[in-house]
Amino acid sequence: MSTLTYKCPSCGAPLNYDGRQQEMTCGSCGNTFDPETIRAVNEIQQKDEGFEDLRWETKEEEFSQQELNETRTYSCSSCGAQLFTDETTVATECAFCGSPSVIPAQFAPGTRPEKIIPFLIEKEQAEKMFRDYFKQRKLIPNIFQKGTLQIEEIRKLYAPFWLFNGVADARMTYRGTTVSSHRSGQYMVRTTRHFLIRRAGTLDFKDLPVDASERLDNKITESIEPFRNADAVDFIPQTLSGAQAHRADLSPQQCEERANTRVRVSTDEAFRRTVGGYVSVVPESSNIRIEGGSAEPVLYPVWLITTRKQDKLYTFAINGQTGDVTTDVPWSRAKFFGRMLSMGLGVAAAGLLAVYLLSSMGVIR
Ligand SMILES: [Zn+2]
Ligand SMILES: [Zn+2]
Repeated sequence: MSTLTYKCPSCGAPLNYDGRQQEMTCGSCGNTFDPETIRAVNEIQQKDEGFEDLRWETKEEEFSQQELNETRTYSCSSCGAQLFTDETTVATECAFCGSPSVIPAQFAPGTRPEKIIPFLIEKEQAEKMFRDYFKQRKLIPNIFQKGTLQIEEIRKLYAPFWLFNGVADARMTYRGTTVSSHRSGQYMVRTTRHFLIRRAGTLDFKDLPVDASERLDNKITESIEPFRNADAVDFIPQTLSGAQAHRADLSPQQCEERANTRVRVSTDEAFRRTVGGYVSVVPESSNIRIEGGSAEPVLYPVWLITTRKQDKLYTFAINGQTGDVTTDVPWSRAKFFGRMLSMGLGVAAAGLLAVYLLSSMGVIR
């Protein structure tokens, strides 16, 4: 004889069958349920559990012998970055950390980029964007406005990404409660009702980028996203001329895990928004299946500019395609609140919102 214990959909405690009432009762929360409902809920949950499947078809190819002949490989003995470029470009410093200690290296097998987005922003433009950034910002600390702003280094780097595409078919369940109260004689009676809420649907993911470079700070890459993938061209070594590309130091599997996390978070958020009208909502289960999932390796163009102020190194990054910028130069709180005081509180609230928006967009950090 097999024993199957049904769990209370409200609180998760084991249910008992009450033969006289022909109901399932919960000793913990006191709820009673119709056995047929419990059987149906159980069946749905079991089906959902075997549903999850987060797999992507990753396009991984090797460089051909001819491409290897047209490629130069370097490694940086200062930061350890593996870099490659075309045969006409000589690397004199690491595009990653700026150190001159780059040495020619043996080509190590690894993922061959499928596509590349060429630089649309040239070096002079990048330098101008850097200077203009500090000219226009009134909230930048004074040290960046006094004296000359020296560019310590400017580097042209292709950063490795994986692009994920697919449809997430998701089945989610939540526990929700509603509360109502009414007066009964001298007493206020508070009734809490428990609900098991189920949602199913699909969410499209198109060109979801995952940074394949562990060395490059995710904060930088995420703040200069998005890149326009429609402008990507097929990779050939010659497209690298004058720049260095960073070899991915995260495996496709590690990138898949990151993609799955992003898919899970976005799906949870999208589905959660459809569950309204409850006092409390707690996620109960989430099962996602990726349909037609594919991933391809690409290279994205990034300008990295460093500047030194009072012995501290600051990084300024520019999306080499769209010109979006990000920097770790802080905004000056003292200046900000000084200005707000002189403008009055109503404006201050709007100002705070603007600063919040700007920082969430990555314009100021
Ligand atoms: Zn219960
Ligand atoms: Zn380096």
